Amino acid sequence: MMTLIKERVPTPERPVEERLKGFMEVNLGYTFELAVKEAERCLQCSPAPCTQGCPVHIDVPGFIRKLRENRDNPEKAVKEALEVIWACNTLPAITGRVCPQEDQCEAVCVMGKVGEPINIGKLERFVADYAREKGIDEKLLQEITPKIEKKKEKVAVIGAGPAGLTCAAELAKEGYQVTIFEALHKPGGVLVYGIPEFRLPKETIEKELEKLKKLGVEIKTDYVVGRTVTFDELLEEYDAVFIGTGAGTPKLLNIPGINLNGIYSANEFLTRVNLMKAYAFPEYETPIKVGKKVIVIGAGNTAMDAARTARRLGAEVTIAYRRGEEDVTARVEEVAHAKEEGVKFEFFLNPVEFIGDENGRVKAVKFEKMRPLEERDARGKRKIVPTGETVVLEADTVIIAIGKTTSKLLRMTLPQIEADEHGVIKVNENMMTNIPGVFAGGDAIRGEATVILAMGDGRKAAKGIKQYLEEKRKSS
Ligand SMILES: Cc1cc2nc3c(=O)[nH]c(=O)nc-3n(C[C@H](O)[C@H](O)[C@H](O)COP(=O)(O)OP(=O)(O)OC[C@H]3O[C@@H](n4cnc5c(N)ncnc54)[C@H](O)[C@@H]3O)c2cc1C
Repeated sequence: MMTLIKERVPTPERPVEERLKGFMEVNLGYTFELAVKEAERCLQCSPAPCTQGCPVHIDVPGFIRKLRENRDNPEKAVKEALEVIWACNTLPAITGRVCPQEDQCEAVCVMGKVGEPINIGKLERFVADYAREKGIDEKLLQEITPKIEKKKEKVAVIGAGPAGLTCAAELAKEGYQVTIFEALHKPGGVLVYGIPEFRLPKETIEKELEKLKKLGVEIKTDYVVGRTVTFDELLEEYDAVFIGTGAGTPKLLNIPGINLNGIYSANEFLTRVNLMKAYAFPEYETPIKVGKKVIVIGAGNTAMDAARTARRLGAEVTIAYRRGEEDVTARVEEVAHAKEEGVKFEFFLNPVEFIGDENGRVKAVKFEKMRPLEERDARGKRKIVPTGETVVLEADTVIIAIGKTTSKLLRMTLPQIEADEHGVIKVNENMMTNIPGVFAGGDAIRGEATVILAMGDGRKAAKGIKQYLEEKRKSS
């Protein structure tokens, strides 16, 4: 009889003192031996709840089986495991690192009922990393590319985030000529400008982008659709268009003092540090000033990333959240790492005013204390009510991480596109908008969501685009 191993095989992590000295990746991932040991815990359920729990339905037991079946031949094990993963997910090195597995595949893992769920995310990451190190992914790609039959149709993809990149990869594999138009000087979307190096090394993204280029995808950076080129111009030149412009406009707080110096949106703060390398000013042009005390408002992944970044820039950091700890939305691993790194948490505090000094720079934040009720709102969070009691916390810098919304630019250039009152684009079951040949996915159609959902949309839209172009070809 099989013995159940209740505890996960832990992944090695960089010690806290070392982490705070720079932006090196915190989690060091499995070795082959550790990965096989963890793979051996898997019960190989059929049907597999983990596959259903994955938004892109990766055959999880399938790829795990390949690892343990070929335990004597690591290269074969990883190649076969990668083939299983690639059938549904072309960016496993990224999703293995940033997916909220604890709410998805791992949440429904049967092992989780008797012990700790299988560490699916870290196994996925291991397969991707090992494949890259040994050039296995390169060989697999070389097997795929010559079989691609080139097609004459051209597709434009707007935005090089996970939605756009996935859509482009899937279409390129079908032989379409794909061009991505990206507003920033680097492709990757939130993966490059938002998520810090210590969670997702830039090198990982660059390697994924190289694969895309080898599939024949052209990426035009510094290209703002709506400014550099109009939407109508794209529609004239391309047979179909995919919109993957994300939700990059930060929400701010409409309270006194919001215009004081030293108050950043998390987007701006993270973009300055991640993309513009502001931590290396003046070697790089963009500066950042954090001072000694930083308050981060919010408790999602963005707030954790901003807080942990500020810690690495030498500040004392406090996360202030208007709800309680149980309603924190960031990934469990990120909250644990933030705590280990000395980030303090203050719950049930709602900001009501930013207080400035004589030079117009923020020096403190006034919060109203909130009280939780037993009742829950539509999202399952405990309702909170103001108590009337206030508290003032000192701050040299405040970072607001309370959410983001879609940009108005694209809709200004394309007013006929159907969207809701928040600018979230509407699509049908094939991801097509109300404009024939124009598809959309990712945060642009969901508001803020996750990397894997964006990728799932990109993939689904690629299928929709293929169907649309095939029908168009038949009728012409
Ligand atoms: C700091 C932070 C941390 C996060 N952490 C996680 C996490 O751990 N796990 C997780 O699953 N999710 C996380 N998320 C959410 C996740 O990153 C997003 O859901 C995901 O990136 C959405 O992908 P997307 O392709 O739709 O959009 P984006 O990644 O936003 O990419 C959109 C791209 O479109 C470009 N663009 C916009 N307008 C134009 C235009 N007019 N012309 C040309 N290009 C344009 C933008 O420059 C951008 O590159 C995080 C988000 C943030 C901000």
